[in-house]
Amino acid sequence: MTDHYAVIGNPIAHSRSPAIHAAFARQTGQTLIYERLLAPLDGFGATVAQFRASGGRGANVTVPFKQVAWQLADRATPRAQLAQAANTLSFTPDGILADNTDGGGLINDLQRNLGYRLAGKRLLLMGAGGAARGVIAALLAENPLYLIIANRTVERALELRRQFAHLGIIEACDYRTLDHLSFDCVINATSASLNHETPPMPDKLFAPASLAYDMMYASQPTPFMRDATQHGAVRCVDGLGMLVEQAALSFALWRGISPDTQPVLNELRASLTS
Ligand code: NDP
Repeated sequence: MTDHYAVIGNPIAHSRSPAIHAAFARQTGQTLIYERLLAPLDGFGATVAQFRASGGRGANVTVPFKQVAWQLADRATPRAQLAQAANTLSFTPDGILADNTDGGGLINDLQRNLGYRLAGKRLLLMGAGGAARGVIAALLAENPLYLIIANRTVERALELRRQFAHLGIIEACDYRTLDHLSFDCVINATSASLNHETPPMPDKLFAPASLAYDMMYASQPTPFMRDATQHGAVRCVDGLGMLVEQAALSFALWRGISPDTQPVLNELRASLTS
């Protein structure tokens, strides 16, 4: 029997996860099927139950279900528990195990693929949704000077500050409060790009030699990357590397083997731009 996996989200048609997992499977000689599943906004639990009943072995979870995925699970790994959000579910005989590979994926992309060290840096994380939750602990573990979370709905940023305050120096605010602050690294973890928008960027946001990292990815520079360039960011990158790296960590959890990410990332980048 071929093992079945899926990525569940809403919207989901744009997801590249099936292509990435198919490439990992080819590379490692595994046989599996990985599909996209669109869950109704009020029907994540039912979609998971149906997929599991039909023989699904595990699922990735994307916008906007990461928190509800953690709530649904019977058990969680320490990093998913810290985040209170999951991007990876494993269906085991003991129930659903939630994990979160977003933080590890972001760090692997920043440090291994891009050669960017976070230690001692002033970090800004824009957004306080499921993706932001998944990366905060991993960012703080790299010993930045501090981390500020800015969000349109400031209460959600404040909640994250409370949740992660024991792990490092972390503050939370709305976008207006950023007016006179500068950062070495600005990470966009909002879903604003899905509506062709960008979070507000005050003039001094980017310090000299700063990095702008958009968790979104596209064949062209994203609106966030274009705005960041105009506001003085020196290096602007999208989240394709994070996507491949978090997928590799999920694949390793499910299949017990770590794929080589670089050829898959190169292949995916080429297919996006062709
Ligand atoms: P959620 O729906 O959980 O959270 C969305 C966040 O975006 C909230 O903080 C929301 O603010 C904010 N937001 C939405 N629209 C706007 C806007 N117009 N202006 C400012 N802020 C806005 O989504 P996720 O956290 O799961 O995902 C966020 C993004 O990260 C998605 O684009 C996703 O594709 C990407 N991502 C990429 C990954 C990768 O591997 N490259 C991995 C994970 C995520 P508010 O709270 O005020 O509503």
